[in-house]
Amino acid sequence: MARKKGRRVRHIPQRTCVGCREHSAKGDLLRLVRTPDGVFADPTGKMNGRGAYIHANQECLQAALGGSLEQALRTSLSAEDRERLLREGEKLSPKREEQEAAGEAA
Ligand SMILES: [Zn+2]
Repeated sequence: MARKKGRRVRHIPQRTCVGCREHSAKGDLLRLVRTPDGVFADPTGKMNGRGAYIHANQECLQAALGGSLEQALRTSLSAEDRERLLREGEKLSPKREEQEAAGEAA
């Protein structure tokens, strides 16, 4: 409930993808969240815990799993976490360019 500014600026929240490090509108990114039970994808963006964002594609997921996700979430990914996130990644488009052509499953 911070009341720093009285102005209402229509601002699109930006987040950094931990995979490719580019900024995107929050809505274009998939939230990953650290919970006491491990790291999960959080498509609703409503789970409690420290979150990190990636573009919803396998390329950025793989890059994130290379270490930057662990840094962002300040945790170590267990083998289980990795497996779970990779499974999640199978639902995503393989590459960034293909996001716009989503639905064109080969
Ligand atoms: Zn990315």
